[in-house]
Amino acid sequence: MKITAITATPVRLDIPYPLYPGEGAGTKIEWGKRSRFTPLRPTPMLEYVLVRVETDAGITGWGEAQADIGFFGETVEQVRAAVADYMGPQLIGQDPLDREYLHSVIAYRGNGCAKSGIDMALHDLAGRVMGVPVSTLLGGRRRTRVPVAIEVPGGSPDAMAKACADLMVQGVRAFKPKVGGYPDADADRLRAIREAVGPDVSIRADANQGYSPKEAIRLCRLCERHGVGLELLEQPVAAHDLAGMAFVRRSVDTLIEADESCFTPQDALAIIRHEAADVLNIKRGKAGGFIGAKKIAALAEAAGLKCVLGTAFGLGLEIAAKAHLFAATEVVTDAVEFTELSLHGNLLKPPWDARLTLPLEDGCLPVPDGPGLGVEMDGTQVVKATAGTATA
Ligand SMILES: [Mg+2]
Repeated sequence: MKITAITATPVRLDIPYPLYPGEGAGTKIEWGKRSRFTPLRPTPMLEYVLVRVETDAGITGWGEAQADIGFFGETVEQVRAAVADYMGPQLIGQDPLDREYLHSVIAYRGNGCAKSGIDMALHDLAGRVMGVPVSTLLGGRRRTRVPVAIEVPGGSPDAMAKACADLMVQGVRAFKPKVGGYPDADADRLRAIREAVGPDVSIRADANQGYSPKEAIRLCRLCERHGVGLELLEQPVAAHDLAGMAFVRRSVDTLIEADESCFTPQDALAIIRHEAADVLNIKRGKAGGFIGAKKIAALAEAAGLKCVLGTAFGLGLEIAAKAHLFAATEVVTDAVEFTELSLHGNLLKPPWDARLTLPLEDGCLPVPDGPGLGVEMDGTQVVKATAGTATA
């Protein structure tokens, strides 16, 4: 079997509110800076690139790449060009099942999102060829339901507590509020959320690099003193400051998680060597797909760390992909982050359009059980989402 074509289709979905609200809440490194609004993007939206791999056997694999200049440093235009113009043509004529080798063919620096879209399509294709779910390819299906966590944008304590309470009505039982401004004000936010959600719900806070090491220590100590019960604090300090992160980790009881510090397996190794984190946040878009994600999980397991599957938003293919990765990777803990569930539709055909969305039955999503990713994109919805893109 040989690859005959790789295509890349940008899509855009409007979302109900800006994810990075600006002054006074969330991470202060974005207050008045790093706006996602542009002349072509005047309103809140998320953009993705759908990737299709075709073969001479008539079997097709679908993948999806995230794109966000603020987090990944990759725009939707870059991802589309990287897939369609640089990486895709090099894979034509190759055996699509040679996944590790194919990664070596497109091993450009960075470009994790573009690689992850191709990687997802290759896994979907391989699963369809073999008649097994992607989770079976990745290690097995020991777990068939995925506990869901959702991020809460920065805001007033009352607004953040209400956002969590509203999501609890939809069955969500784990939250990741955004902090990273001033520790005392952020501790007030987290206390308000704990009061609203009760003792049995997971709260993990994400500072998105907003604190100095001493600010992060203060936030953790305030939360420890006031019984907030933080499951962990994600990326308290600048991504490059592994010494600062190790200082925070040594100084508090709260678990420290690396996100922006941990894109690649090489990053994970550096974090382990610096003893800078207790938990690694894995995102397919950072790691270049399932293959890089599994390598980070293996490093974490060997070093005695845990992993969380983070969100960088996504359509139904990405939701299914995270579910499969969770099912197959023991070192990944509850809960998996699926903030996209509260932001826009998943663009899937029935029945998975309704199964992979809110409300949740038991705080969980099911892991699809069909071949490949086990889900299909709805062509009509995709065409609608494609029509509005600047690159269409
Ligand atoms: Mg994060």
